[in-house]
Amino acid sequence: MYTEDEMLMLSGIQHFMFCPRQWALIHIEQQWAENKLTTEGQILHKNVDNPFYRQKNGDVITLRSLLIASKELGLYGITDAVELVPTDSAEDAITHNRYEGYWKPYPVEYKRGHHKPDERDEVQLAAQAMCMEEMYGINIPYGALYYDEVKRREIISISESLRNTTIHCAQQMHEVFKSGELPKANKQRHCKNCSLINICIPEMNDCVKVSTYLNNNLYEDIT
Ligand code: SF4
Repeated sequence: MYTEDEMLMLSGIQHFMFCPRQWALIHIEQQWAENKLTTEGQILHKNVDNPFYRQKNGDVITLRSLLIASKELGLYGITDAVELVPTDSAEDAITHNRYEGYWKPYPVEYKRGHHKPDERDEVQLAAQAMCMEEMYGINIPYGALYYDEVKRREIISISESLRNTTIHCAQQMHEVFKSGELPKANKQRHCKNCSLINICIPEMNDCVKVSTYLNNNLYEDIT
């Protein structure tokens, strides 16, 4: 269980999955820079992040920008959308002060582009589901990721292994945050998509340390 002072932003979990150094630059060193991809993401979320938006589509109600938190994960954040699906049973359901009856919540996260080669989007969605599970004492077995490039949603099972990855990732985030140290750059192909590349300078990892350079080139061995 984490205390309120230890809570970290849930949305950072996708940055941490992408690159722990990128996450630390943003969340420990408070660095930020825009590129085409971050701007596209912001435009997409401008249409999604409206807390006053409610939509009824058939029997399903969509709520936007709900505040969520989990002390188990030590994460807090805001959902893109939560769909409420009506159900007859109180089991794994919530009530809503505006709408009568029982509702099963179903988190939906909006993403730029298409399915990623890693699990960063799934982990963010699972963290949202796990926050709501803790808040309402329910089980949420599924959520969805909507990709704007293909304009299609994928149903994601909040499986045991996805939950374990999410817990492990959240624990690592807390460890790095507590250490206050920037993880080393790990220059990979994905660095070209990173808006922080000019702040991170991943090539510096290949450079010889100043002390090594001085020892090798400046000082004479007089022994
Ligand atoms: S440039 Fe690469 S190593 Fe540096 S923060 Fe971005 S993704 Fe990580």
